[in-house]
Formats: sequence, C-alpha cells, structure tokens
Amino acid sequence: MKTNNVMTIIWSDRFEDHGMDGHPERPERIAALRTALDEAGVFRRHRIVEPEPSQPDIVDLVHDPRLIDLVRQTAESGGGWLDPDTYVTPESYDVALLAVGGVTQALEAALDYGPSFAFVRPPGHHADPGRGMGFCLFNSVAVAIQKIRRDRGIERIAVLDWDVHHGNGTQAAFWSDPDVLFVSLHQYPFYPGTGAANERGEGEGLGSTINIPLAAGSDDADYRQAFEEQVLPAIRSFEPQLVVVSAGFDAHLEDPLANMRVTTDGFRWMAAQVAGLARDVCEGRLALALEGGYNLQSLSASAVAVIDEIEQQYEIGAAG
Ligand SMILES: [Zn+2]
Repeated sequence: MKTNNVMTIIWSDRFEDHGMDGHPERPERIAALRTALDEAGVFRRHRIVEPEPSQPDIVDLVHDPRLIDLVRQTAESGGGWLDPDTYVTPESYDVALLAVGGVTQALEAALDYGPSFAFVRPPGHHADPGRGMGFCLFNSVAVAIQKIRRDRGIERIAVLDWDVHHGNGTQAAFWSDPDVLFVSLHQYPFYPGTGAANERGEGEGLGSTINIPLAAGSDDADYRQAFEEQVLPAIRSFEPQLVVVSAGFDAHLEDPLANMRVTTDGFRWMAAQVAGLARDVCEGRLALALEGGYNLQSLSASAVAVIDEIEQQYEIGAAG
C-alpha cells in the first residue's frame, strides 16, 4: 500500500476568516486545533497541503446554482443569515469554496498518498442540494465525492457520518444513488429532525442509506455496539473503493450542543475501526473531513487522538 509513510493534513488559516460573534461554529475551533496539532507534532510529521478553492461549476455537481448564487450574493452584500443558525459574512463564500476544495483534495490524497484529514469549516453535512442550513453552506463531502467519481473513475464510496447530528444534506445528495453508501450515527430525536431508521433511500438507492438513531446519553459502549452490529458489517459488505468520514466531534461528553457521552478514547476507538476496515476493504483509502465539535478542548484532543490512532493503524512513522 502506498502510504508514503505520512498522512495528508489539509490545513489553512483562512478557515478562521468565517465567523460571527457569539456563534458556536467559530474561528477559535481552528485556532484550538492548530495549537493542539502543533503540540502533537502533526505539522512536522505529515504532508501539509494548503487547500485550493473549489469552483461554482464543481459545487453545482451537488448544489442548485440558486444556492451558490444566494451564498455569493449574501456575502457580496455584506453578509446575512440563511436561517436562524446559519450565518454568511463577506468572507463566507470564499471560505466555503475553500472548504469544498480542501475536502476534495483530501479525497484525492486518500487515493494517491494514504489517509487524510481535512480540517475545514464551515461544516457541510446539513447543506442539502437546494439549501444551506445548520451552520453549513455547501456540502463539502458530497461535492468532493461527486468530483472524484467524475474525474478519477472511482464508483463506490462509503460515507460514515459520526457527527452527533444527522447528516441530512449528505443523505439527500445520495438518496437514490446505489453507489454511495451513507451511514449515519446520531442523537435522535434531535436537530435537524431527520435520521430515523426507516429512512433508507429510494429507488435504486434503497438500502444504501443506513440511519442509526441513538438515544441522548449514548456512550462509548453504545457506539461500540452500533459499530460492531451495523456500521462495520454494512460498509464491509458494500465493498467501497474509498471510505470518507464526516468527522464531527460533537458527540463528545464535553460538547455543549448535544447530549452524548463519547470520550476522547471513544473517538480513538472509532478511528481504529474505520482505519482497520479501510485497510481490509479498499487498500486503506480513507479520508476524514471535519464537521462539528464545539468544545475547543475536547474537539482538539479528539482530533489528535484520531490522527494518532490512524498513524498506528497504518504504521505511519514506524521504522522500515
Ligand atoms: Zn454536529
């Protein structure tokens, strides 16, 4: 396997340029991650890639051009709100395109170099084809998947969304698509209201959407059971060519927005499982993209733990 003995880390300080006073999805998330990743030696050990912005004609592989225009025009006119949760500042259009581009580069890196992690914001998994919502402007994971399917001859992709919220936007993007498996674990009932177990896709895509709603208060053991009974067997039998993780860290015990009880070691365990699975089923092709996570300390510690675990699973940095 060609890992080149590094991970690819998609990183730009530009992701601090989208912010709104008092909002939990804030630039300090990137600042906290920078400090933690730096202290852990991640920037010294790995391949650090500055993202390039995506373009509107790529974003419209998933999104209605009217949404793209709305975000651009809202930014150009000084900013505003797409819904009561979702702000646009003068910088947001450019930063959101940079997030899409960064996640796209993470998927390409997973094909060409080895495992990757894109530390982008704003998050994307709530953005559905026609609408930005839930802090999300464009669905970076969905657009990136469509671009590499178009350009790289990759057909079957599995998305594991372990953000605490249901990834309604990603689900919508691939609802009738049999070649993208979407598996989501999330607090339920909870924002945004979707994600019941009987939402399974439709038409040719029936069965390629798998929702695993979990009760508030679920902990590492509950996630472990869901992985072992549902997540891992489903991805394994799907036989993907690439595994993409919508990696939010807001299921953490310390997160202020949700009510789950996953620990930092719980995220480490989940990373070990997906890394092992990717190595078994798709030559180790694994890309992670940041979604939520609003306690700066638990966000940073969990991201460091996930990277450390992936290094161990791929024997990155090991002699020989
Ligand atoms: Zn979330």
